[in-house]
Amino acid sequence: MKILAIANQKGGVGKTTTSVNLSAALAALGKKVLLVDTDPQGNATSGVGIDKNNVEYSVYDMLVEDISINKVVLKTEQENLWIIPANIALAGAEIELVSAMSREVRLKYAFKELEQDFDYIIIDCPPSLGLLTINSFTAATGIIIPVQCEYYALEGLSQLLNTIKLVQRHLNQSLEIEGVLLTMLDARTNLGNDVMAEVRAHFGEKVYDTIIPRNVRLSEAPSHGQPINVYDARSAGAKTYNELAEEVISHG
Ligand code: ADP
Ligand code: MG
Repeated sequence: MKILAIANQKGGVGKTTTSVNLSAALAALGKKVLLVDTDPQGNATSGVGIDKNNVEYSVYDMLVEDISINKVVLKTEQENLWIIPANIALAGAEIELVSAMSREVRLKYAFKELEQDFDYIIIDCPPSLGLLTINSFTAATGIIIPVQCEYYALEGLSQLLNTIKLVQRHLNQSLEIEGVLLTMLDARTNLGNDVMAEVRAHFGEKVYDTIIPRNVRLSEAPSHGQPINVYDARSAGAKTYNELAEEVISHG
């Protein structure tokens, strides 16, 4: 089982879009996928059609209240795709966890109790490097870092890499950067090439061949509660997230 955290403390770089649509593409390829929403905004939850304010249990109950993970997992409408939902209840968790026992390993321990088998667990991280993200890194086998194709794309990444190093040293020695994903490439500008060169110079082979274009269908799909491969399977967004899923699978 691969556990992949989708992380970058910068907001708006495509973490949630990637979490939802990579999960859905993997599921469509026959993999059993558990999407875990750890952002209090709950956009990954609503992005797969779950009413985040009407769930019995959420990731908050699991992490803070010790409710069994098996009670929190929900089936989505899509075949092979399950979710652990999040909502605004999670907003207090960063503070509540500070004084809790085993505060960095709660997600990892929860995963150990899963009664169902999954091929992939995909974790949508919040835009911060707090305890929720640390829990994801501690539980994960790898991290996918979405980087938006824009000036200053690499700004702030040293903080992220530093956090990864600290987690590797103290909490999860086998944690790896699984890949760096360029997102929101605007084909009309040359900026993309500059950013690509800069990111490749920095991360080399870790950068996925697949680059996600800016595609309006990707931004429309969440308001319909559908992943892109359901909302518009023929869009450029659906095609490229499918390619990404194949690339992720081929990396073993
Ligand atoms: P994050 O989770 O990192 O904050 P999101 O995935 O929520 O980022 O993306 C931020 C915004 O950009 C959202 O409104 C989303 O719909 C939009 N978006 C993300 N990726 C794309 C893309 N490839 N093309 C067009 N819009 C996108
Ligand atoms: Mg997000």
